[in-house]
Amino acid sequence: MDILIAEDMGFCFGVKRAIKIARDIRRETDANVYTLGSIIHNPQVVQQLKEEGIVPISSLDEVREGYIVIRSHGVSLSVQKEIEERGFQVVDATCPLVKRVQKKARELVEEGYTVFVVGEKEHPEVQGIIGYTGGKVRVINLKNKVNFEGLEKVGVVAQTTQSIKNLESIMLKFLPGVKELKVFNTICDVTDKRQKEVIKLALKSELVIVIGGKKSANTSRLAALSLKEGCETHHIETDKEIKKEWFRGKEKVGIVSGSSTPDWIIERVINKLKKIDKQKEEVLHERRDKFHN
Ligand code: SF4
Repeated sequence: MDILIAEDMGFCFGVKRAIKIARDIRRETDANVYTLGSIIHNPQVVQQLKEEGIVPISSLDEVREGYIVIRSHGVSLSVQKEIEERGFQVVDATCPLVKRVQKKARELVEEGYTVFVVGEKEHPEVQGIIGYTGGKVRVINLKNKVNFEGLEKVGVVAQTTQSIKNLESIMLKFLPGVKELKVFNTICDVTDKRQKEVIKLALKSELVIVIGGKKSANTSRLAALSLKEGCETHHIETDKEIKKEWFRGKEKVGIVSGSSTPDWIIERVINKLKKIDKQKEEVLHERRDKFHN
């Protein structure tokens, strides 16, 4: 069985940076260190960090003092202000590319555009962008029906993990009715590269394994893109979810990972696939031997 591994795997620079910032502050202080929400969307890494003393909280009411690390997805300015007003030390680990979307969206609002963010409304990154513009940004995706009547100047940004195809399709929705359209392609390069790679892998594999947090938007999008190419696809968080029967009769298996998936999880998945492949070979040899005898 050929195991085809995507070129770009493991943590992206934004995730590496966020984890380093959190670990550095943990090392430098005796005070408590918290993250507001999960620092990244990977439960195994979040658990590892918790054991190191970097504890996720879902509300500021849960704690009284210490450092609050702002996760890679960012938060709104009002949340940041609230953290400071409550007397916590703020450590900003927002990915610079997420910051860029926030700033571009605000810039467009200030220039008088009606601003849309292409993305998933409930995702923390999108919530942060909405908050950063004081709620003046509307969320749009392919499922929404939006009335464009009366919109003269429209500005658009995208959640960093969106696909370029989604962004293009939404632009086509705007074009017939809007006089002025200003678009910032704020999709992150890492995301874009991995999406292109998963499509290529899906086209030459019989099965694609996508490794990463089930709540990770970029990982789920990789799985969706692979499925869209008609390839059998399994989105897993760890090697424990792998089932031997998936590989029956399969000769080419592709592997990709989301940008919040650590190398140690990827290695375990690859090792498990190699083990399954070895077992398949052994069964094949046994059958051949029986046949010849
Ligand atoms: S996927 Fe891109 S935007 Fe998201 S954290 Fe990584 S580098 Fe930043």
